[in-house]
Amino acid sequence: LAYLDYNATAPTRPEALKATVEAMSAVGNASSTHRSGRHAAERVDLARRQVAELLNCAHGEIVFTSGATEANNLALRAASGIGGRLVTSPVEHPAVLETAKTITSGSPDSLMLLPVDADGLVDLDALRKALATGEVAVVSLMAANNETGVITDLGPVVEAAHRAGALVHTDATQLVGRLPVDLAETDVDLLSLSAHKFGGPQGVGALFVRRGTPLPYRPLLIGGGQERGWRAGTLNVPGIAGAGAAAEAARRALATEAPRIAQLRDALEDALVERVGDCRINGVRSTRLPGVTSITFNGAPADAVLAAMPDVAASEGSACSSGAPSPSHVLLAMGHSREEADSTVRFSLGYATTAPEIERAAVSAVRAVRHVRAALTAPL
Ligand code: PMP
Repeated sequence: LAYLDYNATAPTRPEALKATVEAMSAVGNASSTHRSGRHAAERVDLARRQVAELLNCAHGEIVFTSGATEANNLALRAASGIGGRLVTSPVEHPAVLETAKTITSGSPDSLMLLPVDADGLVDLDALRKALATGEVAVVSLMAANNETGVITDLGPVVEAAHRAGALVHTDATQLVGRLPVDLAETDVDLLSLSAHKFGGPQGVGALFVRRGTPLPYRPLLIGGGQERGWRAGTLNVPGIAGAGAAAEAARRALATEAPRIAQLRDALEDALVERVGDCRINGVRSTRLPGVTSITFNGAPADAVLAAMPDVAASEGSACSSGAPSPSHVLLAMGHSREEADSTVRFSLGYATTAPEIERAAVSAVRAVRHVRAALTAPL
């Protein structure tokens, strides 16, 4: 099987597996004061430093959560306590978009969705205009899109938002561990990540909260006061240890992995464009993540294409919404018709993807698209 669904989840890195198993083999609640508890707390402390190093922030700025969904919920719910309007975009992951709609009741006074162009980029002028009203409290824009890989240039967003006194949150789930993140350079106030996207275990993530951010205290989980009160509950020590080890492994490999993966992605795109024809690569004019390609194969519904290449694990739009019959909200926001959106396949590559795997996947995908097109145009 050619596993090309890293944006859904990446294979566990060996370092993460080892750290998780080691932590799970030991006994200890990180809140206990005896030696076993202290050892568990030390594992968490190491992981916090490893995650912080990947982001170039202080370890005290990391709150461990159950994933990016929780980190996004926590960030937006806390930020909504400031009062004022929340500005985001229609191409966000549902963990941001649906949370934003829920906490603001979707009223135009409290929620604004910025327009997105055909390349998947948000309209910065519209953002500046919204900020000029002085009513915006928080801007939440994803660092990289999970379906297309399109990257948001956060520099100008942060600059404009801060000038207007608004906080910036970014859902960096797809970018962390794939491209460098430097929080000393990029001055976002809040950032969400999920460990399983860079080779850590599923069900572990983090919210970065920049020190001094005036965030109203609004935890989602209230109880024993863990994570400085931001997230109560016994810490998931094995998961957190695995997240830390994955963060360190990803950080060390990043400089060599990213260009290698981009080269493989480009080879896959070249092969498909050349051999299937009548297709379009979504967001290709924008800066994208190295490992993602979203391709609309005209006249070939994605569910049929995927079924015709059982030896390739890819996805239709995003994995989070597959199973649901609605077309990708991201592609619709970029101006695709419903039919085009439904004819789009996402291939996402990562650290363990190999050249032979890409060659095999290209052969299978070409065959699958041709087969589906032929079946649909054949006379009855
Ligand atoms: N944000 C983005 C951009 C994602 O791609 C995902 C995972 N599909 C999430 C948030 C949610 O992450 P998790 O399911 O690990 O909570």
